[in-house]
Amino acid sequence: MARSPLLDLASQVLYPNYGPRDLVLDRGEGSVVWDTDGRRYVDFGAGIAVSTLGHAHPRLTAAIATQAGRLIHQSNLFLSEPNIRLAHKLCELTSMDRAFFCNSGTEANEAALKLARRYFFDRGETERYRIISFDGSFHGRTLGALSVTGQAKYTQGFGPTPGTTKVPFGDLGAVERALGSDVAAIITEPIQGEGGVHIAPPGFLEGLRQLADRLGSLLIIDEIQTGAGRTGSFLYSQSRGVQADVITMAKALGGGVPIGVLLCPATYENALPPGSHGTTFGGNPLASAAALAVLDVLDEDCLLDRAKTLGEQMAARFEQLIAKHSIAVAQRGLGLLRALVLADGASPKEVMTALRDAGLLVLLGGADALRFAPALTTTDAELNEGFVILDRVLGELST
Ligand SMILES: *Cc1c(COP(=O)(O)O)cnc(C)c1O
Repeated sequence: MARSPLLDLASQVLYPNYGPRDLVLDRGEGSVVWDTDGRRYVDFGAGIAVSTLGHAHPRLTAAIATQAGRLIHQSNLFLSEPNIRLAHKLCELTSMDRAFFCNSGTEANEAALKLARRYFFDRGETERYRIISFDGSFHGRTLGALSVTGQAKYTQGFGPTPGTTKVPFGDLGAVERALGSDVAAIITEPIQGEGGVHIAPPGFLEGLRQLADRLGSLLIIDEIQTGAGRTGSFLYSQSRGVQADVITMAKALGGGVPIGVLLCPATYENALPPGSHGTTFGGNPLASAAALAVLDVLDEDCLLDRAKTLGEQMAARFEQLIAKHSIAVAQRGLGLLRALVLADGASPKEVMTALRDAGLLVLLGGADALRFAPALTTTDAELNEGFVILDRVLGELST
């Protein structure tokens, strides 16, 4: 097939910070997308765990179009009804009192770190600023969010990150040894997503809660990838019975429209007073209307239950693939956030590319696995179609 002239233009004008890309996507419907040459792909990545209602969901599309015809943006000099209603709903869903809105996961974590430091500063504890985070974590790419990210491939070359300590994920003893009266917060993902879908071991989140309480530090739980129903509960930490001091969400919340949010109890409502933090686009009515539509559909179509059921189906299908193909050796994950671990020596990137060429889009899950984060609206037929491709390609690659 002739190479699209768009690819040549892209290679001339786009900053090459992302890996080479040669697929130009054009449109989608449910868990299927088409490229500009009309080729069809089953989408098990959902734009990195974002397009939680699939593509072109009629309720989401209509909510965005209606809001765009009324008011897209008004700045934080003014209020808007969709934003107030969204804040109310999110506080109810997470048992929090206050919502601060921004435009991405990174920004939500940035706000959380600033909140933790400023909270203690205002109480006269000016030496309490250290943040504990975990090896293998991913919290975003601004210098602040990066400073608590525990993977060299993201942090290398961007300078020292004073005031932060990284300890092994799942190791409560290491957290205890790292704690001191200078620790403002512990930040963790409840399931490490970018790191390869590693679930916090039993007792870990509960233990962090206890350690944070003992030292008076904040516990920030980053639910950016796990939140909004992906694991079968609205927040994964809720299913473990752990209440964070600060929750951050983004990715799936807007169904594809950029939005991030920090949620906290009233205790911390004065930590970031007027002027201390903000963002031009944060909480705009367009993104808020989109997120409200996502929350409505999650509720009305019982998509949290669907995430559980679909997830169990995926786990059973993975088990079959592992039994059948030597290249697949294990699985990890929960609900619709899953990883299929490949045999030593197999390159997840090459397998991902082979799957793409065969019509299935998946994600990388750390160094050893493929990651799957399909839409919560994925139909049985779409799921089956994806697994048929997976079965065939893994068979071809298992020698
Ligand atoms: C994706 C992600 C982020 C960063 O979100 P962006 O919207 O890319 O800034 C932070 N934390 C976790 C757990 C993520 O998965």
